[in-house]
Parts: sequence; structure tokens; C-alpha cells
Amino acid sequence: MSGRLIIFSAPSGAGKSTLVQSLIDSGIEFSFSVSATSRQPRGNERNGVEYYFLTPDEFKRKINTDEFVEYEEVYPDCFYGTLKSELQKKLDEGKNMLFDVDVVGGLNIKKQYGNQALAIFIMPPSKEKLRERLIKRSTDSEEMIEKRIAKADWEMTFAPQFDIVIVNNILEEAKKQVETTVRHFLSH
Ligand code: ADP
Ligand code: 5GP
Repeated sequence: MSGRLIIFSAPSGAGKSTLVQSLIDSGIEFSFSVSATSRQPRGNERNGVEYYFLTPDEFKRKINTDEFVEYEEVYPDCFYGTLKSELQKKLDEGKNMLFDVDVVGGLNIKKQYGNQALAIFIMPPSKEKLRERLIKRSTDSEEMIEKRIAKADWEMTFAPQFDIVIVNNILEEAKKQVETTVRHFLSH
């Protein structure tokens, strides 16, 4: 049987990576879809683990040779995309795949895979909290933080198109809700 797709999208800083990590730690077996990006690695990120880090030229070459299921220019000059090679092979092996992608990419994948996919939108409790979290995470420059916040309103307008919206206010509650929702989806 072909694997299922669990898609997480959210404005940057909403807590998506934290919740995805908690889901992995809960013991459900997933294969993580490693995206390609043209942005620079940050912190301890390693090529082939968090992302495949490509130069902008390499990324564009792969667009031209139709190697992506979907890709987006999420921020100016920062491309992100899901490689066909990465996805189909694992689905065919029956692996459930976890996606952490931007809202447009998430809905794109959902459209292509229908009921085989569960699209989850992680909503921050407020814009103020979003800013606080991005500042506290201290992985982005001030300019990048402002870019991410400026995009959040637009991103949140897509929330109703997702299968479910989970508000990440109290972390432990959000973690539980994510786990329950995913377990329910995978058991049907
Ligand atoms: P994203 O992957 O959506 O960009 P992260 O998971 O990196 O977001 O979370 C952004 C920051 O907010 C991190 O420092 C994380 O530890 C923190 N965080 C995540 N969820 C919560 C929460 N419910 N309450 C407070 N801080 C949180
Ligand atoms: P970050 O730079 O914080 O790692 O990611 C920035 C944004 O790019 C996040 O919203 C993340 O979900 C999105 N993203 C990561 N990989 C992909 C992908 O393969 N496709 C799309 N469309 N967006 C992605």
C-alpha cells in the first residue's frame, strides 16, 4: 500500500518545526521529506538532513528539468521545493511522509494527493507572539524577521483551505492535538 502524506504549513515562527519534532518523538514512523532550498544553511543545518542546499543556479536548473513536485519562491531569491525523486520512491515503499512546507506548497501537494494527504495549518495565537518567538529563536536577522512577520497575514488567509487548523498557544496542548489528529488520520 502506498504511504500517506502529512503536511504542515504555518507562518514562520508559529512553532511548526517544534510540533513536527514532537510528532516524530511520539513514536509514529515517518519519512521526512527533505526539501531543496537556495537559501544558506543556518546554525547547525547539514546538507541532505534539514535541506538539500543548492545554489540559485542549481535550483533553477532543476526547475527547468521538471524535477520538483512543487516549488515556491517563499522569500525574494529564496526558493524551496519538494523533489520528485525524494517523494515518489518513498511513497511507493509504503512510507508515510512528513512535510514542512509553505502554505502555497502545502495546498499544492494536498491538491495533487487528495485523501492520501492530511494538510495541517499551525496558527500562532497572535502576531505579537509570533514576533516574540522569532526574536527568541534568534536564528534570523532583524530584517529577515520583519520579512517573515510581514508575510504572516497573507499566509493566514489560506488557513480555511487546510483540513485542520491547530492553534499553537500552549505548547503541550498543541502537541497533543497534533498527535491525536495524525493518529486518527493514519488509522482510517
Ligand atoms: P517554525 O518552524 O514555525 O518557524 P519554531 O518551531 O522554530 O517555528 O518555533 C519558533 C520559536 O518559538 C522557537 O524558539 C520555539 O522554541 C518557540 N515555540 C514554539 N512553540 C511555542 C509555544 N507554544 N509557546 C512558546 N514558544 C514556542
Ligand atoms: P525556513 O527558511 O524557515 O527553513 O523555511 C521557510 C519557509 O519555507 C517555511 O515556511 C517552510 O515551510 C518553507 N518550505 C520549506 N521547504 C519547502 C518546500 O519544499 N516547498 C515549499 N513550497 N516551501 C517549503
